[in-house]
Formats: sequence, C-alpha cells, structure tokens
Amino acid sequence: MKIQALKGFKDILPGEVELWKYVEDTARDVFQRFNFSEIRLPILEKTELFARSIGEATDIVEKEMYTFVDKQVTMRPEATASLLRAYIEHGLYVQKPVQRLFTIGPMFRHERPQKGRLRQFHQMDIEILGSGNPLVDAELMAMAAMLFSELGISVSLELNSLGCPQCRPAYRVQLLSFIKDRLDALCEDCKRRSSTNPMRVLDCKKSNCREQVEQAPSILEHLCDDCKTHFTGVQSGLQQLNVDYSLNKFMVRGLDYYCRTTFEFTTTDLGSQSAVCAGGRYDGLIEKLGGPKKGPGIGFAIGIERLVLLLLQQEKVFAEGSDLDLFVIGLGEKGEQLSYGLVHEMRKQRRSVAMDHEGRSLKSQMKQANKADAKYVLIIGDNEIERGKGVLKNMVTQQQQDVKLESSALVEAVSS
Ligand code: ATP
Ligand code: MG
Repeated sequence: MKIQALKGFKDILPGEVELWKYVEDTARDVFQRFNFSEIRLPILEKTELFARSIGEATDIVEKEMYTFVDKQVTMRPEATASLLRAYIEHGLYVQKPVQRLFTIGPMFRHERPQKGRLRQFHQMDIEILGSGNPLVDAELMAMAAMLFSELGISVSLELNSLGCPQCRPAYRVQLLSFIKDRLDALCEDCKRRSSTNPMRVLDCKKSNCREQVEQAPSILEHLCDDCKTHFTGVQSGLQQLNVDYSLNKFMVRGLDYYCRTTFEFTTTDLGSQSAVCAGGRYDGLIEKLGGPKKGPGIGFAIGIERLVLLLLQQEKVFAEGSDLDLFVIGLGEKGEQLSYGLVHEMRKQRRSVAMDHEGRSLKSQMKQANKADAKYVLIIGDNEIERGKGVLKNMVTQQQQDVKLESSALVEAVSS
C-alpha cells in the first residue's frame, strides 16, 4: 500500500530546494549586515508557553495548534514565544542589553490547506529584544524591505499602531459600542470575538464584516501621548530610510501580545494569502513570561512558502552553474575498481565527482554525465589502465586530453 504525506505537509524536492536555499542565503546575508545572530530552537514546547504568550482568544490557540493533550506539549505554531523563552531561560539580556536574533524553521498550524497556506510551513523569525526605541521598529521594517528588494519581490508595507494598555481600554469601550449596534450583521466568528477580543472584528476578512466596520473608530485617534510620540518616531525613521508605507487602521494582527507598532508586507499576487511578512512590538510580553521587568521587544516573521511562490510566479531564473566537476566512467571490473578509489581521493581534495556503480555501458554512462551536467568526463577502460592515463573530456569545449590516472593530476586538470 502506498503511503502519502499528510494533508498540508509538503515535501520540498531537489530542484525546489535550490530556490529555498537562495531565499535563505539572501536573508542570512541581509540579517548579518544588520548585525543579527542566529538562534536555533526546539519544535516542541509546553502548551502553556503559547497559551500565555499568543493569547487564549486567538485563532492560533483556539483552533490551530497541534497539541499532545496527554503530554501538555505543542508543536510550535510560531517562533516568538520559543525565542523569548530561550532569551529568558539563558539570561541573554545579561550578556547584552539589546539582543538581535533570528531563527529559521518549520511551524505547525492546523488550518485549511490551500495555496500559500500549509499545516507545516516555514518562517524566518526576526526579533530585537531590549529596545523600545521607535527607530528600531523602522530599522526592522527597512531590513525586511531590503530583503524583498534584493529578492526582486514587490510588496507593500502597511503600518498601524495598536496603542498600549494605557490608551487601549478607552478605545475598546468606543469600539464595543460601535460594534454592538451592528452585531446582528456580523459573522459568527466576529460575534464571538466581539466580547473576547473586539479589535479582531476589524481584521475579519469577510466582505460583509468589512463593510460593517468601515466607519469604526480608529485606534490612531485614541493613542496616548507616549504612543503618539512613538508612532511619529517610527514614521520619521521610515521616511529617513526611504521606506514606502501606508497606514492601515484595520490591521490589528491576530496575536494578543502586540502593542504599539504593527505592520505587514502584503502582495496582490497570491490571492487571499496576501501577507508575506507580519510583525509588531510586544513590550510587556518578556516580563509576562518571567523575563526582565518592562522588557521591550519587537519582531516579525516571513512566510518562506509565500516568498518561494512569488519567485516562481515571477519566473525568476537562476544561473544554474553545474556543481559536478567530473563524472568518471570506469569500464570493466578493473576500470570500475580503479575509479572507485580515484573518485574518493578527488572528493577528499574537495572536488565534486560522480560515478556509476551498476556496470552500465559507455553510452548509457555518457548520458548520465550529460544529464548531471558534469564539467568533465573521464573514461577508464583496460587500455587506459595499461597506459596509466585516462581520456579526460571537457564537456563544454568537447576537447579531450590524456591525464595521468592519479588524483592530484586529475584534480589539477579539472580545475583549469
Ligand atoms: P494569515 O493572515 O495569512 O493567516 P497570520 O497572521 O496567521 O497570516 P503570522 O502568524 O503573523 O501570520 O505569520 C507570519 C507569516 O507567516 C505570514 O505573513 C505568512 O506569510 C506566513 N504564514 C502564516 N501561516 C501560514 C500557513 N499556514 N502557511 C504558510 N505560511 C503561513
Ligand atoms: Mg493565520
């Protein structure tokens, strides 16, 4: 019986992996320029970590988590919570007051799989912990913008502020009274959310709900002085760094822990899966998880699947240089035996070399060498062994030369 992968879990095959590596290499290069260090985190964490940080009344915690109920552990649905847990557990704030960290890896959410939406998907997660400076918010967005531009992906940046625990309660009262008058017209999810997390109603993707909240009061008009100053600082930072953005008062983001700055980079090229990158500030969360008092933090996550889809859609072509230096064709028992040792010696000397182990004909092995896009082919038959020299063929120029059947001579010949 053929066993297939689970729904929403995808293999990334050779050929696709190159594109993934290109995305990740470009990202690592950009992150390094901005002085970020990599951190690697476990995939399984205590359920409580996510419930406490992401928030009980969120889509993720309410319905999307893969949890082992008997063990009270959960496959991470996002990376911020784990990263903060590690930051606190290892006292990283003692070593360096401001930590700039990133991590790349798989996340798990039980949602309806569709284009750009999987159950195991991959994120790059970037966080700056220990700084509340609005210029840091702008710098992070500018870094994401730089990455998208270097990848050749066109996206738009949407920005909002969610205020803070000082200014949000008054706004919440106003919003609730606005929603109350329209409650009957909202979808079931929004009816439920309106009491637990009313700002989420603004974020509903259903067109009817959107129409209903079009005239809703905006948090931006209710910010306290500190939040206003912060938001102005973020915007002047973005302007100084020449990052284009637009304000979106409806963008509230689904995670409970956000305060002040929230942002998304969106695309119009992926249907309803429009967010490629999303993030925000979460001052207070570090303290809530047992870290330093009033520890500020900000971060964002980029969905790698969506980046890869965009690159494929833009038919981005990669200069595919061959990685294989040499294909050795050993004919007959002796030829094969000699090749076996030579190939290994050359690999030790850092050359990428392949051979066939199935005793196939010269013609069939030439075909394999062509398919593998080998730069050179070396033929070793009985004659060659007798002469101590093999025929080395340059597959680009088609020129042939005799080369001593010794690894150092061969390495030199294929390196020229
Ligand atoms: P969406 O609104 O698309 O559900 P989200 O708000 O749940 O996104 P975040 O939790 O902020 O997303 O994650 C950041 C990024 O991770 C998203 O912008 C998206 O690119 C990617 N992402 C989130 N969920 C998935 C998924 N199920 N499959 C693929 N990528 C995802
Ligand atoms: Mg989601």
